[in-house]
Amino acid sequence: MTRILVVAPSLYSAFYLRRAVTENLCSDDGGGLFNVEFTRIEEVADTIFDAVSGQTDQPSMTRLIASELIHNAIAELVTPGPLSNHRNNDSTLEAVQNTLRELELLDVGAETALVRLARGSRQGLYPQLLELQRRYAAPASNYLTRESKAALAAAAVAKDPSAATAIFGPHLIVLRTPSAPDAYTRLWDALEQLDAAIPARIDPETTSVDQSPDHRTETNFYSTLSAADEPRALIRNIVADARAGVRLGEMAVFYPTVDYASRVKDALDAAKIKNCGPSTKTLAETPSGKFVALFLTMLANDMRRDAFTSWTTSAPVIDPSDGSRVSAVEWEIVSRNSNIVRFDADTDWQRSLRRYANRMSNRAQRPDNDTDDEKSVDPETFRNAANAATQLRWFVAELASRIDIDQSRPWTEWVDWMEAIITDYHSPQKVSDDSERIGLTRVAAELSQLRELDQITNDDVGFDRFNRTVQRLLRARTGGSSGWGSAVLVAPLSAGIGTAFKSVHVLGMSEGGLPGPSRSDPLLSDDLRRELDPDGHWLTTRRDKLELQHREFNLALGCATTRRMYWNKALLGATNESYPSPWFVDEVLKTSNETNVPVKDLMDPGSDWVDSVTPLSDIGTTGVEAFSDYEFGLQNVATRSNDESDLRELLADPGNRPILLGRRTLASSNSSVFGPYDGNVDLDSNGSPTSLRLSASALQGYATCPYRYFIANELHVDARIDPDESLELSSLDKGILVHSILERFFEEFRPEDADDGLRRLRDAAHGVFEHFLRDEYVGYPPIFELEKVRLLNQLEEWHRDYMKVMSGYDGTVMPEVPFGYETDDLGHVQIADGGTLRLRGKIDLIAVSSAGDHAQVLDFKSGSTGSYSDIEQDVTASGTKLQLPIYALIARQILGTETEISAAYWFVFERGNKRLRPEHKVTMEQAQEKFTPVLETIVRGIRAGNFPARPGNRDSWGDGPPWKNCKYCDYSDACHSDRLILWDRKKSSPPLSRYLTLAEGEAE
Ligand code: SF4
Repeated sequence: MTRILVVAPSLYSAFYLRRAVTENLCSDDGGGLFNVEFTRIEEVADTIFDAVSGQTDQPSMTRLIASELIHNAIAELVTPGPLSNHRNNDSTLEAVQNTLRELELLDVGAETALVRLARGSRQGLYPQLLELQRRYAAPASNYLTRESKAALAAAAVAKDPSAATAIFGPHLIVLRTPSAPDAYTRLWDALEQLDAAIPARIDPETTSVDQSPDHRTETNFYSTLSAADEPRALIRNIVADARAGVRLGEMAVFYPTVDYASRVKDALDAAKIKNCGPSTKTLAETPSGKFVALFLTMLANDMRRDAFTSWTTSAPVIDPSDGSRVSAVEWEIVSRNSNIVRFDADTDWQRSLRRYANRMSNRAQRPDNDTDDEKSVDPETFRNAANAATQLRWFVAELASRIDIDQSRPWTEWVDWMEAIITDYHSPQKVSDDSERIGLTRVAAELSQLRELDQITNDDVGFDRFNRTVQRLLRARTGGSSGWGSAVLVAPLSAGIGTAFKSVHVLGMSEGGLPGPSRSDPLLSDDLRRELDPDGHWLTTRRDKLELQHREFNLALGCATTRRMYWNKALLGATNESYPSPWFVDEVLKTSNETNVPVKDLMDPGSDWVDSVTPLSDIGTTGVEAFSDYEFGLQNVATRSNDESDLRELLADPGNRPILLGRRTLASSNSSVFGPYDGNVDLDSNGSPTSLRLSASALQGYATCPYRYFIANELHVDARIDPDESLELSSLDKGILVHSILERFFEEFRPEDADDGLRRLRDAAHGVFEHFLRDEYVGYPPIFELEKVRLLNQLEEWHRDYMKVMSGYDGTVMPEVPFGYETDDLGHVQIADGGTLRLRGKIDLIAVSSAGDHAQVLDFKSGSTGSYSDIEQDVTASGTKLQLPIYALIARQILGTETEISAAYWFVFERGNKRLRPEHKVTMEQAQEKFTPVLETIVRGIRAGNFPARPGNRDSWGDGPPWKNCKYCDYSDACHSDRLILWDRKKSSPPLSRYLTLAEGEAE
C-alpha cells in the first residue's frame, strides 16, 4: 500500500487531522487499511538536509548561542548611534536578533538590505545594524542554523525534484495555511511545485464553506459581567457539549493572550475537566526556577532585605544546617524589626540581629512588666522571635561565605557555583513532586547549556552577565500538558489552524482583546519594510499582521461546526463596561444575516443575539441550570433549604461536608445558645486540666476576652510582632529600661545611703543604657541619646518622691522576686472546686520595715494611669488587673502572717498624688476578698472550655477595631467580623453567667 505523506502546518494540525482522517475512514467509510502519514515542515527540512548533506559535524545553533553572538557583537560595536546606550538591555538584544533574522529572508540578504538602509552614512541606527550583522554573521557561519538547513533543503528540492520525490514517495499532500514568511517559506514553495505534490491551501478567503447537513455551523455568543464568569460560562458550555455526546478531546478553547490561558486552565482544573495544550508557565514560575531567579535577583540587589524575603518566601529554600524549610515569615519580621535594610558585606546587620535577639530574650523574661497591659504577649512569642533572629544570623552568615560575585570567571565556574547553591539550599533530593522534579531537571539542563558558551569566548564573564543570561533562559516555557485527543485543547488562536474539532470556544473577545493592540517595530518601520520589499513577500507590516491574525481567527472558527464566542464586559482596570471586539460584531452580523446590529443592542442584557451569562452571585435564586460541583452545591442548598428533612439528606453526603460545617457555623451564630462554634470548647474530651500554671497577664487576658486567651494560651498562636516603624523608643523598650534601672538601683539600695540615692540612680541608669545600646538597641544612636536624656530626667523626678513612698520600709528590700518557677515553691493556690492553680511571675519590689511587721508590695508602671481608674473601686478591675492581689498573696507566702502587707502600682513617670495607685493603700486582706471569687470564675471558665469572644465597650478612638478589647488585639484578623452582635446574642446563656457577672457586672 503506497504511503500518502501530508505536510501539515503545525504539530496540532498533524495530530488532529490524523485523528479526523482516521475517524472518517473508520466510521463514515466503513474502515479499512490506509497508509497516511502526517509530518511537519521542520521534519521535511531535516530529512532533505540529511539526505543531501550526509553527516555533518557542524554544531547546531541554539537560541542561547545566537543571543550570545549578538551580545558579543553589540559589546564590540564601534559605530555611533542609538543602540550604544542600550547594549545591556535584553529587549534590545532580542529586537536586533529578530530584525536581522527577518532581513535575512530577503532575496538580497540582510547585509545588502542594511547597506541600502544606511544610505552611505557612518553613524545612526542602520550603520550600527550593518556593523552588527557583519560581526554576527562571521561566527554564526560556524553553526548550523534552522534557516540554513531550510534554505539548503529548498534549493535541493528546486534543483532535483525527482530526488525529493524519491524521498517522500509519489503521494505528497502539501497542506499550507496563511502564515508570516519565515525560514521555511521557500521550502513550502518548492514542495508545492513538485509533480507528485497536491497543494492544498487552508485559507478562509479561498475555502468554500461546506454547508452540507453534517457540516452546518452553529454559532453562539456570550457576554459576562466579571472575569470569573467568563471561564464559568465556558465550563457550562463544555459540560453541555459533553452531555450532547461530544468527547472532551473533540473540543478546543482558544485564547488571545497567555495571561488568559492560566485563568482558563485553573478554572478547568478546578472543575475537574481534563485539558491539555501548551504550558502557560515559564521556568521561572516553577519552584526550582523561582529559587534560582530570585536568588540571583537578590544578589544583583546587594542582598537587600526585601529581595531576600522575596527569595525565602516564594521559593523552597532549605536551611542546610538542619535540612528544614526556612522560617521566611518570622525572618522577615525580625529583620524588619532589627532595622536591616540589606545583608551586605559589612557586619551591621549581624550586630542588629544579635541585639534584637537579646532584646527579645529579655522581654521573654519580663512578660508581666509589659508597660501596656492591653497588649500582653505570651513570653513564648518573644522567645520564638529571639530564636528566629539567631537562626537568621547564622543562615545569612553561612550563605554570605558562599557568595563572591565581584570576580569575573568562566561560564563553567558560574554554573558549578550555582549548582552547588541549588544542592545545598534547595535540596533537590527532597523534591518528591513529579512536576517539581520535571521543573528542576529543566532548570538544571538550561544552566548546563551555559557551559557551551565557554567555546565561543575565552573572556571571563561578570556576575551581571551571568545573572541576565540565566534570567533570560528561565523565561522559557515549561513543557505542555499531555492528553491530546482525550482532553480539551486549551491553546492560542494560532493552534486552531488546520485542525478539526466538533466544538470550539474563543475567549477574550472584548474590544482591544482580540485583535490585540498592534505595535510598530522601532528598528524597522512599515515604510522601510515596503521600501525593501515592495510586494510584501517577506517583510510584514502591522496591517499584514492584523490580516493574518484575522485569518487565523477565521480558521480557528472554521475547524468546528459548533462555535462559541465570549465577551467579558468587565475588563480589569476598566471603569466602564467594555464593548465587544469588531470581529465579535462581524460574526454576529454573519450569523444573524443582518447588515447592521447596533452595539447597544448587544450590550443589552436581554439581547436577541448575545446570551448574558447569569453571574455566580445570582445562581441560587434563579432558575439557571448549574454545571460545576460548586454551582450544584450552592443551588441545591438554596432550593432545598425550605424543606429541613430534604436538606438534611443532602448534607449527609460526605462530599457536602464543607457546606454542612458552614451551615452549622451560621446556624450556631444565629442562635442564642453558646455552642461549639462560638467558643464553647469541649475540653473534657481532651482531658480538662485540673492543674493550671498561669501568670497574672494570662488570667487578666481571660477576664478581658476569653477567646483571645484561648488563641494565645490554649492554641499557642504566636502574637504578631509588627515591625517597629517608629523612630522613637517603643513603650515596651522604655518599660524594660525603667524596670532594669530600678532593679539595679534597688539591688544596691541601703536605707542608710538614702542621701546618695540620686548618684546611685544615675549610675544604675548609665550602666543599663550602656548595656542596652551595646547589646539590644537596633535603632538610630542619636535618637537613643535623646531618649536617654528624657528618661533620666523623668527618673530623677521620680527619685524626689521615692523616700516619701519608702518611708517606714527601712528593712529588707527585695527587688525582682520570681515565683511559680522550678526553683521555688511559691504560688500554689487551691481553688474552691478542688483543682489547683500555680501562679507564676515576678514581683518588682517588696519593701519591709526594719521590725518586719509591715511590708509594701510595689509594681512599677512606666505607662500612664489612664486604664487603672477602675481599681479605685475594685482592685481587680473585674479581673483585668490582677498583679496587686497576686503579688500580695505571694508576699504573704514569703513573709508569713505576722507581717501586714499592702500593695500598690507605682507609676514612675506620673507626678505627685497620681504616682501611687490605688490612691488608698490596699491591704492583703482587702485584695483577697475581691480576688478569690474572680480567680474561681476565671479558672472555672478555663476548665469548662468557655472561650467566647468579648469585644468590650465601643471605643472608636484611634485606629483599629472600634471596641476596647479589640483595639490592641493581635488576633483581630482571626476573629468574627460580627463579634459584638455575637457576644450580645450569647452572653446570657447559662454557662457564661458567672463570667458575665465578672466582666460586665450583670447576669440574667
Ligand atoms: S478581636 Fe476582640 S473579641 Fe476577638 S479575640 Fe481579640 S479581643 Fe477578643
